[in-house]
Amino acid sequence: MRSELRKDYIQEKYVIIAPRRKKRPHDAKKAISQRSISTVCGICPQKLQQDLIIQLFAWKKNNLQALGKKKRVTWDIAILNNLYPAITLDNPKAYGIQEVIVETPTHQREFAKLSIKQIAGILKIYGIRTKKISKNKKIQYILIFKNSGGLAGASLAHAHSQIFATDFLPPHLFDKSQRVQSYKLEHGSCVYCDVIKRESKTPRLIYEDKYIIAFTPYASMYNYEVWILPKRHLDSIAYLNQQERHSWARILKRICQKITDLGLPYNYYFHQTIFDEDQHVYMKITPRGSTWAGVEIGSGIVINPISPEDAAQYYRE
Ligand SMILES: [Zn+2]
Ligand SMILES: [Zn+2]
Repeated sequence: MRSELRKDYIQEKYVIIAPRRKKRPHDAKKAISQRSISTVCGICPQKLQQDLIIQLFAWKKNNLQALGKKKRVTWDIAILNNLYPAITLDNPKAYGIQEVIVETPTHQREFAKLSIKQIAGILKIYGIRTKKISKNKKIQYILIFKNSGGLAGASLAHAHSQIFATDFLPPHLFDKSQRVQSYKLEHGSCVYCDVIKRESKTPRLIYEDKYIIAFTPYASMYNYEVWILPKRHLDSIAYLNQQERHSWARILKRICQKITDLGLPYNYYFHQTIFDEDQHVYMKITPRGSTWAGVEIGSGIVINPISPEDAAQYYRE
C-alpha cells in the first residue's frame, strides 16, 4: 500500500497512513508486565481513605449492588473522589467533578484480565455516574477515560478509570456537534449510524453483532486505534442495556488484551455532551505506540505507519 492522506469522518482532522513495509505490524515486542505484584497502593481496599469513598458496589449473583460507603466491606467496584482534583464544585474558576472508578479490589489484576461480567459492571457504573452527574445542571460535558500503562499517563498501577466533568464544553467538541447537526440536515441521518453501516463492509471491521460494532477508523490517528459503538443511536452510555454492555465488554476485553500483547500502553475514552441528543456515543481506544514529532506538532497532520486495515486484521486473528 502506498501512503494515503485521509480525513476523519466528520472532523477536520487529517492523517497520512504510511505503512512501512519492513516493520510488520504484529512484530511488536511481547509485553512485559510492569505491574508490581506485591505492593499495596492508595486505592487498594486496605488503604482506601474513608472520606474519599462515594459508593462501593459488589456482585450479588448477577446483580451489581450498591453497598453504601462504609470502608469495611468486601467490594468489587469502588467509586472515589479524586485525591488531587484539578477541578472541584467549590471552585467557580475551575468548576467540575473528578472521580476515580477502581475496577477491581485486586491490585495486580490487569483490566484485560478481568471477567467479562466485571467489565460489563464497570460500563454499568459509567452509566450510573453519568446519570447522577448530569443532574447537576451546570455540567455541560462528561469525559470518562482510562490510562493504562506509564506512557498513557497512568500514575497508579491498580486498574482504574476516571471521570472528568466540567461546566465547559471544549471548542473542538462544540465544533464536532455542529458538524454532526449539519450532516443530519443534509442527509437526514446520524453520521455515526451511517459510519457503522459503511464500516461493517470494510476490511477495517473487527467485530460486530446485533448490539455493537468495533472497527479501526478510516483515518486512524493512533497506531492500532479502535472505536466501539452501540448499533442503537444512543447519546449516552447510561442508556445501554444489559446485552449491549455484555457485547461491549467482551470485545473491549479482547482488544485491550491484544494491545497488551503488543507491549503498548493505551487509553480509552468517550465524550458525553449533555443537552445534545444528536450525538452518538462511542468509545475510542488509543494505544500509545507512536511519538508525535515535528510533522505532527507543526502541521497537526499525523503520520500513522500502521494502516487501520492491517491493525483490524491483527485484532481479528
Ligand atoms: Zn492497589
Ligand atoms: Zn447515530
